[in-house]
Amino acid sequence: MTSSTIRPASDYPPGGDAFRHRHLTGIAQLTPWEISYVLDAAEEWVDLNRSGAAKHDDRLAGLTIINAFFENSTRTLLSFEIAGKRLGADVVNMHAAQSSVKKGETLIDTAMTLNAMRADAIVIRHASSGAVQLIADKVDCPVLNAGDGRHEHPTQALLDALTIRRRKGRVEGLTIAICGDVLHSRVARSNILALTLLGNEVRIVAPPTLTPPAMERMHVTTFTDMDEGIKDADVVMMLRLQNERMDGAYLPSAREYHALYGLTPKRLEQAKPDAIVMHPGPMNRGVEIDSSIADDADRSTITEQVEMGVAVRMACLDILTRRQRGVPGWN
Ligand code: ASP
Repeated sequence: MTSSTIRPASDYPPGGDAFRHRHLTGIAQLTPWEISYVLDAAEEWVDLNRSGAAKHDDRLAGLTIINAFFENSTRTLLSFEIAGKRLGADVVNMHAAQSSVKKGETLIDTAMTLNAMRADAIVIRHASSGAVQLIADKVDCPVLNAGDGRHEHPTQALLDALTIRRRKGRVEGLTIAICGDVLHSRVARSNILALTLLGNEVRIVAPPTLTPPAMERMHVTTFTDMDEGIKDADVVMMLRLQNERMDGAYLPSAREYHALYGLTPKRLEQAKPDAIVMHPGPMNRGVEIDSSIADDADRSTITEQVEMGVAVRMACLDILTRRQRGVPGWN
């Protein structure tokens, strides 16, 4: 099922024309075939990771990758670290307390410091939207966005697209409902961009207070009623309630939120019988998603998403460092 969706290399422009970007700051910069190119590259890593052979591929040997995380992370940081190490790179993690980092001048100073260390790639997570682009503009090596504020989380959208493609045999022409705290979610934003670009019908399901304005400009349909929003969906993507980004009362209570927007087995009956359920993690069990669904290996893709994350990040690190590694055709 999966191999039929991988395109032959001859379908893509040769060498560096297949992926023209120096950085991966967002899905907004990518074309549909650039997305497919990354997904196809990641497929190979999935197979190698499963076989254990990836540990013997050291194409990034001698390169130093800095994971600069100015905001907490568990799976994304680990995933990037494993991805880099599996390809033989030296990976250094830098955790900075958010409180000590400010925007503007300070961020530029941070960029200069990172640049002076002569890393070969920098992976950045930051609480401010746009911070990653700002740093990318100031450094000499490729920068990968591991999540900036509410803006984008491109590797999450790529790993989600790969998960959908493997489970459904395609990632086009599907009905995909993205449900929950869309307002604060960079995962939602990157997924809306990627999934609409690939030709899916994307629906947003959220309470009015958690629905961003002018969503029609992003070519999605918005719903405030969860049952209507997930009706006949092929994919139900749940989002975490991002309490840390809420500076006021967006919701009466977690209990009421669960009653109206929590994914329960009963509610999931509205979706297609073979619908898959996704969640980027970390989950608030019993708030946005019931444990019985999260732990149902037939419906839930949650652990597969984590697995695809490593493969997608290996593909991104490989592709973005080809220029400095002098891979033929990548000047
Ligand atoms: N882990 C994802 C992110 O960093 C989703 C979340 O935190 O809810 O955006």
